[in-house]
Amino acid sequence: MRDDPPLDPFADDPGDPAAELGRGFDPGPDDDALEPLTAEEEAEITADLADLEVFQVLLEPRGVRGLVVDCQDCEEPHYFAWDLLRSNLRHLLDEGQARVHEPAFSPDPSEYVSWDYARGYADAMIAADE
Ligand SMILES: [Zn+2]
Repeated sequence: MRDDPPLDPFADDPGDPAAELGRGFDPGPDDDALEPLTAEEEAEITADLADLEVFQVLLEPRGVRGLVVDCQDCEEPHYFAWDLLRSNLRHLLDEGQARVHEPAFSPDPSEYVSWDYARGYADAMIAADE
């Protein structure tokens, strides 16, 4: 009588499909959404919030309604109105994780600028002021 389990046909195979299943429970480097923010990340978000205030003050009077962010998850641009962007950053700061995307509803792309554009504009305005 043989009680031995049948030999695993994939025992020495690095492509063993069962290995994939086990790996699913490992918190990989991409799975750190629930990790608390590092001090550095917190400082970055706080700096982003401060930048955002400046951008809005400078750009809103010129008809810019918010920023367009290239989303790496969706691989498409998302349009965020100032308030939405600010509340998303605050949420990230409080909760340590980003919100599910809540892009603006049928935005007009001509009313949004990229973060880099806003920063360049703010830098130019501040330089002109000095
Ligand atoms: Zn997205």
